[in-house]
Amino acid sequence: MDFTEAFLRVEQERDYLIYLLRKIIGVDTTIPPGENYGELVDILEAELNGFGFETRRVAVPEEKYRMIPEPLSGERINLVGVLKNGKPRSTFYAHMDVVPVDDPWSEDPFAGTVKDGKLYGRGAVDMKGAIACFMGAAKVIHEMGLEPHSQMECCFCTDEEVGVYPGALYLAEKGYFSNHLVWGELGSIDPAVLTGIAGAARANITAVGKSCHSGMNWMGVNAIEELIPVMQALMDLKSDVEKKESRLPALPLPGAPSDRMTPMFNLNVIRGGVKENVVAGECHLTVNRRYLPDERYEEVVSEIEMAVKRGLKNSRLLDLKMDFYNIFSPVEIDPETDASKKCGQQPPPFGDTRTSFSAASALQRIWEWCWNNFSPKDPGLPAAVFCAQGIIWPMRLMSMSLWKISSP
Ligand SMILES: [Zn+2]
Repeated sequence: MDFTEAFLRVEQERDYLIYLLRKIIGVDTTIPPGENYGELVDILEAELNGFGFETRRVAVPEEKYRMIPEPLSGERINLVGVLKNGKPRSTFYAHMDVVPVDDPWSEDPFAGTVKDGKLYGRGAVDMKGAIACFMGAAKVIHEMGLEPHSQMECCFCTDEEVGVYPGALYLAEKGYFSNHLVWGELGSIDPAVLTGIAGAARANITAVGKSCHSGMNWMGVNAIEELIPVMQALMDLKSDVEKKESRLPALPLPGAPSDRMTPMFNLNVIRGGVKENVVAGECHLTVNRRYLPDERYEEVVSEIEMAVKRGLKNSRLLDLKMDFYNIFSPVEIDPETDASKKCGQQPPPFGDTRTSFSAASALQRIWEWCWNNFSPKDPGLPAAVFCAQGIIWPMRLMSMSLWKISSP
């Protein structure tokens, strides 16, 4: 068929996409605690059923998700959808959880306000926008009676933002994912072939001092002040760590420090003290470390331990406790497989989609590129992952371009 007709129809679904995205942003799936998955799944399941998908709710067993070192509550309900046609499978993946709201927002983070052509809401980018895009694609395919060349499947998952044991891992263990995986996560607008992705480790540090009245501070040990030398040692480590480069290329993001993957080191959470006239007895610090496929988790842990030890030499802390968590491990795909080589041989798919993504020509190129690289008919493809900028329109186009469609 002529794709123009389908693409025109996509354009007409703008209102549906905004309606649905606002509706699902309105369900607060902030993690922790990640309480409202069931409510979100109710909405998504009804939509999918309306578009002819068979659905299944898959709850992660409690003993699995309790491995996550966060105060979680509520059931971990994942949603699997399948548009059965007996053809090779293609799975669209998205996570349903969002990170907590931090800075003051100009708009209500759970209202999905549309203003000046932009939609504001927690998860609009990461990644409820992608879910709305998938639904838009499913709606068009259903209502136009198009026959996908692959069996469209989707996995909408829990607890991605905390790692350790996300719903996606449980679904993967249970065989719900096909090996043609489409991931509409934030990142580059250009379809990207990822050969590797960084892992994440976390260190929770508890500095122990001795609380006392601030008018007699010689009687105590100020945990906040005495953590400063440790933090300084960690900042020195940060500067060393972030000089490292992977042998693998980075995702082409604006402002990235290198065209190779680089590790990241962040002091992200600090809490201490109870009142202005009380010397702080404890101070808690959380370090987040993104580590490369070239690095080992054990090395990352020992680097941090050694830096803390160096800092403690200049500190009067009475004690310091550390817990480490491997939030998720790095992943690397063999660049020598047929699939990787095939992707590598493709000419750059398009140059300027960042500004011209809505143009028909760009659309066609996205479509062709996706199809040429990720044909579900290709049995030699071990894994394929898309990355799409978390802006609704390009993502919608990406979603639409995942499946080569034709008239029945
Ligand atoms: Zn995400």
